[in-house]
Parts: sequence; structure tokens; C-alpha cells
Amino acid sequence: MATPTGNLTERRPTRQIHVGDVAVGGGAPVTVQSMTTTKTADVDGTLAQIYALAAAGADIVRCTCNEEAAAEGLARIVPRSPVPIIADIHFHVEMALAALEAGVQGLRLNPGNLRKPEEIKLVAAEAKDRGVPIRIGVNAGSLHPDLYKKYGGATPEALVESARMELAYFAEVGFDDVKISVKASSVPLMIDAYRLASETFDYPLHLGVTEAGPPPGGLLKGTAGIATLLAEGIGDTIRYSLTADPVEEARAGRQLLEALGLRERKGLDLIACPSCGRSEIDVIAVAQAAQAALENRNLPIQVAVMGCVVNGPGEAREADLGIAAGRKRGHLFIKGKIVRVVPEDQMVEALVAEAERLVAEGVEARLAAADAGAEAEAEADRRELLDAKGDDANASETRVDLIRKRFGDEAAPIT
Ligand code: SF4
Repeated sequence: MATPTGNLTERRPTRQIHVGDVAVGGGAPVTVQSMTTTKTADVDGTLAQIYALAAAGADIVRCTCNEEAAAEGLARIVPRSPVPIIADIHFHVEMALAALEAGVQGLRLNPGNLRKPEEIKLVAAEAKDRGVPIRIGVNAGSLHPDLYKKYGGATPEALVESARMELAYFAEVGFDDVKISVKASSVPLMIDAYRLASETFDYPLHLGVTEAGPPPGGLLKGTAGIATLLAEGIGDTIRYSLTADPVEEARAGRQLLEALGLRERKGLDLIACPSCGRSEIDVIAVAQAAQAALENRNLPIQVAVMGCVVNGPGEAREADLGIAAGRKRGHLFIKGKIVRVVPEDQMVEALVAEAERLVAEGVEARLAAADAGAEAEAEADRRELLDAKGDDANASETRVDLIRKRFGDEAAPIT
């Protein structure tokens, strides 16, 4: 409901490809990817994870195709999957060909691992015949040894050169249905490599910081790299690589794109004040309870949990809905306007009930249904707290007066 502002939606122009029915690049919305951690041969287990990933925000899901049983699993998974499936291929050309037989909507090839030109061209020709795109997935950790030697390490130039060599093989069979990634676990290296790739190619770019590790460090590294590039207009599809349940990857990807205003809000955006000496409640506990109660309801709204009624509703006036605590009561507000005052122990319950009504009926209707007298009641609480605790803990006006006196400016009015 809250409208994203700013112009991060301006993207560097790229060609457009289609992974199944999902467009990537060429002005399409930036998409979220994740990868299953199940054995691909376990069809039901993998499908359960794919559905969970899709529900958490993944637009495209990748599964490993590392053995014959995995390829057979893909043949059964693809028709039942809610999102397009990409097969991840490393060393074995026959796995790439088997994945194409299985009907996958995309392949990911690692040029550092599948090295024989004849094999690369064979896969590209087969993919071309079937209209299946390929991601050239360069990885600093598995760069071709010749490039490593030539550039003295996994430099941005070496990563981009690896992609360029793969493109040249593809060009020999007339295949250019491609997206590119140049991932590294080092954030500065990854950023530089993608910047160079963006200057070099007009193919869509798949962003990621590889092997970022477990959250919260992995989330921070992924965000530092991916968000920096997205803010520069670089990147058409993203993946967080976390040592965690992949649902966290999908959720993080979706939340990042929503936070940058690159995708419509699909789920809850819970904001909460950091809390301070003025707080009338345990903000952390209430925010966690609200998050737990609201997050699986898929309500596309911004909800604020604020520690005090003195500043809370004003500071969170842009939120669709919020609650602030004061004098053992909760002030429920919509777009900064108090609509109800409830006992403190019913705050979360009231917040959840109002969130559902707000989504069903809209802001105007819920403002019109505000309790008569709620504003006045809230203002009385606010005034009482101000009288008890003061509204100016820093005694600002007295200090300004003293500063002005110091500058011999006693007559100046205090504004
Ligand atoms: S809303 Fe109130 S409790 Fe929360 S940080 Fe602001 S002043 Fe402190």
C-alpha cells in the first residue's frame, strides 16, 4: 500500500530472455532466484521446497542435476513446479543434455568446470533447438586455471574474460539466449566484476555474492553486493547464497527488491522503533509477536510498532497501520491518525485484526470506521505522559537561549 519513491527503477538497458514464462532483463521486473538443497531425485521433497521458495518470493528455482536420478527427478518436477526450473550443471556434459531432455526451462553452466569446447557447443546447440536459455555462471572460486594464471588471480577482468570465452563458443553455433553471472565471495571483487560485465555485455546479469555464509553475516554480505549494484541500475535477477534454509534466501531477495522499490510489496513490511528511555513497552517482544502473527498472512502493508505514544504515531505516519504504547494502552493508528485505543495486553491482537480489515476494506473505509473519541482519548494519554516525563528531555529551548546569550543575541526571538 505504501508507494515506493525514488528512481532506483531506472535500469541499465539489457536484452531480454525468458526462463519459461518469466522475463529477465530488457526492462522486466528484477526477479528473485533460489536453489533447492534436497536431492533432486527426491521428487516430492524437492517439490515441497520449491513451493516453499515460491511462497517466500522466488520467481525462478534452480536444482542441481548431478546424476541420472536427478535428471529423472527433474522430468517429474518440471511439470508440477509453480515456477520455472533451472538445472545447475558443473562437470558433466551428459547431465546438461539429460536436463534438457527433462524439459527444464533454463541451464546454468560453470565455464570453469565444463571446459571442452566441443561439449560446450553441443549443449548450446541443443539448448538453441529447444529455446532454452543458459546462464554463464562464472565463479571466482572455480575460474578456469588458464585465466587464473593469465590474470594472476580471480580479478574482475579474469571473470569477465571467462564469460566472454563462453559466449564465443556459443556464437559458433549461433546461440545467444544468455544471461551472465560473475560471482565471488569477496564483495568488492564481485561489485567490480559486475560493473565491468555491465560495461562489456548487454546480456541480462544475474547478481550474487557466492558462499556468503550463514545469516546475519551472509545476509549483510549479499545485501552489500547486490544492493550496491541494483542501486546503480545493474542487475536483472538476484540470488542470495546463504548457508541456511533456502526459504531465507528467497525471502531476503524479495524483501530487498521491495525495500528498493523494485518490486511491488507482496508481503508484510514491519517497521519498529529502536526503542529508547521513553518506551512504555518491550518493543522487541511486541514487534516479534506482531511479526509472528502477521507474516504468514501475506498482507501487502507496512505495519509499525512504536514504543511510545508521544512520538510513535507521528514518526510512523507513513505506515499503513501502526500501534504505539502509552499508559498501559495501545494507540492503533492508520496513516498516523488514531482510530482506536485498546488495553496494552490486546495490542497485538487488535493490530492483526485491523491489518486484515485494512487490506480487505481499504484505508478510507477504515479511517471512516474509527472509534469516536479515539483521537481525544489518545491525546489525553499523550498529554499526561508529557506532563509526567516532559516533552523536551534535552531542555532544548533553554539551551538555545543560553547559546544565543553567548553570542550576545539576547533579543533574538526563539523560533
Ligand atoms: S517511538 Fe518513542 S520509544 Fe520509540 S524510539 Fe521514538 S521516542 Fe523512543
